[in-house]
Amino acid sequence: MRIKNLRLNSDDQVITKIVGEVLRAFHFEIVDEDFDIDFDDFHIFNDVIADKVLTRLVVKKANSYSVYKAAEVVRPEERFGAEVHRLVKKNLYKILIDDLKLRGVPYGIMHGVRPTKIIHRWLRNGYGVTSRGVIDRDKISRRLRADYLTSYEKSLLLTEVALRQIPILNSSDDKTISVYIGIPFCVTRCLYCSFPSNVLPSAEKVAEFMEVLTRDIDAAANEIQRYGFKVQTIYIGGGTPTSLPINFFTDLLAKVTVAFHSDSVEEFTVECGRADTIDDDKISALKNFPVTRICVNPQTMQDKTLQRIGRQHTAAQVITAFEKLRHAGDWQINMDLILGLPGENFDDVLDSLKKVLALNPDDVTLHALALKRGSKLQTQLADEISTLDDFDLPNDETVRFMSDTAEKILRGKYYSPYYLYRQGYISGGIENIGYCKRGAECIYNVQIMDERQTILGVGAAASTKVPDNVAMRLQTSFNAKDLSTYLRDVDRYIANRAKILAEVYGN
Ligand code: SF4
Repeated sequence: MRIKNLRLNSDDQVITKIVGEVLRAFHFEIVDEDFDIDFDDFHIFNDVIADKVLTRLVVKKANSYSVYKAAEVVRPEERFGAEVHRLVKKNLYKILIDDLKLRGVPYGIMHGVRPTKIIHRWLRNGYGVTSRGVIDRDKISRRLRADYLTSYEKSLLLTEVALRQIPILNSSDDKTISVYIGIPFCVTRCLYCSFPSNVLPSAEKVAEFMEVLTRDIDAAANEIQRYGFKVQTIYIGGGTPTSLPINFFTDLLAKVTVAFHSDSVEEFTVECGRADTIDDDKISALKNFPVTRICVNPQTMQDKTLQRIGRQHTAAQVITAFEKLRHAGDWQINMDLILGLPGENFDDVLDSLKKVLALNPDDVTLHALALKRGSKLQTQLADEISTLDDFDLPNDETVRFMSDTAEKILRGKYYSPYYLYRQGYISGGIENIGYCKRGAECIYNVQIMDERQTILGVGAAASTKVPDNVAMRLQTSFNAKDLSTYLRDVDRYIANRAKILAEVYGN
């Protein structure tokens, strides 16, 4: 849908942003030309009168005007400002569906990255919990549909995932933490990648990184001592940590183990990502340390797509790497697939899923392709080097069908969903979702998404998140994504992390 003029009766940045989110969900574009437009004018008026949010949409199309209206009352138990924002979105969404007859999207007006947090907050406030302490699933899913206009299926999915996470979330207290170590290297850069992955530099540069990382690790270990934290999970991610040459990789595992591992650690994950970085030496190194979980992420098992997205390995190499890892240790293994990759159709995805399931991984995460800023894909589109058609991306309906079918297949094999998150510009307007067998949940994935546990971030592009339950806010500090900046400014990042820890735990 193309609009020539979009106007709001407010220049409030949040209102502008949330109206943009609703319009983007329906693929509206604001264009500066008369050619092929659907609406000349789209004027949105939002007013708050007492506890009511009123929205009017005035549309001009081919010299004729139409006016549509919607009104909603704020929930008194919620924060007034947040309610106004939700209802501005809800009113506009309803007008687009009811009056302009557009087709709804699976998550309705839910645009945040971590939707299950909303359910956990409701439960903490007693909503959806009976006087006997039983959780009323129907009440929760009904409210998701009423407040956020999610589809019936997504309301059930979100409720299921949120409730499954509760025992994991309850296994943490305010001194239980996780540690994330970011290794910003990869062997090549994938087309869709927006991670801070640098193609592996010279041995001298890697040595410099390891020296700086060691300072960062040691400082984080000191904070753990100082505040008496118990480390529940360790996660080495990136990039692809196994892209490090073997001497550096072994050194990394040794340093992380000495600094952070103790009896309290329930999970130690290493992302091995790409099959072309997993060899016998790396597997032996992994076996020498208390690693409990490995991620092997083919993203697709179609060789033509692997080539197209810039990977240098084949599906056969994924199978070999997986089987070697499986025989080498009794760790859990996660595999990731992406739905909506360039040139892939429904049959490709089905075939990839079947090949992955034949390996019997403990956990399968299904991502939906997102056109993220910083990726080669997005840059080529933004610079008009390529158009969307050049990438032959499956449309939203196809991606949703891929996802629905994959879900049925996974459930049929006793994998059930346990964590999910969403991103902007995600194909099909769906989610990234992890399915696993009972007892194979990745604790870190659940804790990081809920943001109720302190996570110490070490290394490039790592974030430290410290929930301040008194001030009711999340304190954050971020290490640079860019390698040179991280190397140069590591002391500043160490100090920032120490500062927010002192603010929350210092008294
Ligand atoms: S393997 Fe992952 S981190 Fe590395 S370039 Fe590809 S998407 Fe990015």
